[in-house]
Amino acid sequence: MFIADSHCDTLYALEFEKVRVNDLMSSKEKLLKGGVNLQTFALFAGSRDFKDTPYENAVRMIECAKKLDIEFFTGDLPDAPPSGLHGIFSIEGGQVLEGKIERLLEFDETCRIRMISLTWNYENEIGTPAQIDKTTGLKPFGKTLLQEMDKRGIYADVSHLNEAGFWDAYETASLPLIASHSNAYDLADSYRNLTKAQIEAIIKKNGYIGVNFYPYFLTRRADADLNDILRHIDYIASLGGIHVLGLGSDFDGIEVPPKGLEDASKMGNLIGLLLSNGYKEDDVKGIMGMNLWRILKDGERIRKQNA
Ligand SMILES: [Zn+2]
Repeated sequence: MFIADSHCDTLYALEFEKVRVNDLMSSKEKLLKGGVNLQTFALFAGSRDFKDTPYENAVRMIECAKKLDIEFFTGDLPDAPPSGLHGIFSIEGGQVLEGKIERLLEFDETCRIRMISLTWNYENEIGTPAQIDKTTGLKPFGKTLLQEMDKRGIYADVSHLNEAGFWDAYETASLPLIASHSNAYDLADSYRNLTKAQIEAIIKKNGYIGVNFYPYFLTRRADADLNDILRHIDYIASLGGIHVLGLGSDFDGIEVPPKGLEDASKMGNLIGLLLSNGYKEDDVKGIMGMNLWRILKDGERIRKQNA
């Protein structure tokens, strides 16, 4: 079964936290063992606010990706989901672009980023994160950026973004929205999770939601297990979202994993969990990777139409 994951912080852990390759939650070895075929690797802006140098950090992470010894797709994806293991790039924290459209073009050119989470947990040139408030909408640069991303089939990733920014992005972007690593607020009331209205809006435009494995976003407690992941999948499916569901592990960005899914080598455990809980095989294939694949290929199609 094709398995794909929409978010990990492995490159940041490797380059900036100096985690050794063998100790990564999403090393090549563990991803292969878990049967993962496509891993999204985030170029994470860094967590030190304005004192940080997000653009330089991202450039360093592209370089350090070579240490993983994984082949990255930096151009068009193949026609059919690939076997073996491959990586793709995303940006986490739009401050990486430093308020310049040229930076978007540069990252698009050099490593074909597929999605950009507009903010991390700090305000930037684009907008305001959910950690700060609910009410401040996107800034003018954010709206200009979304139009440029639309042309290139690059998705706005709303994980970390606040509610007003979410709705601005929903109205501005012609592409559907992606939440690469977020869960349902109704089940775990963290600012990082999506309200019912947000989930329904993503479903309506055939977007994508990658369920995050971080226990605190699953349960609001420090511990969680596979059944907690299942609860969030069940909930989103119950709103009509079976076709937008996927996996957004957040591996190497979370200090504690859920029981039964300690690292990427355990990803295959989710297949049995879903099948034994009544999910049809086609739906399981969608959640495990095909829904992410579908939206990535849609983005490429739109990019070609606009070329
Ligand atoms: Zn994140």
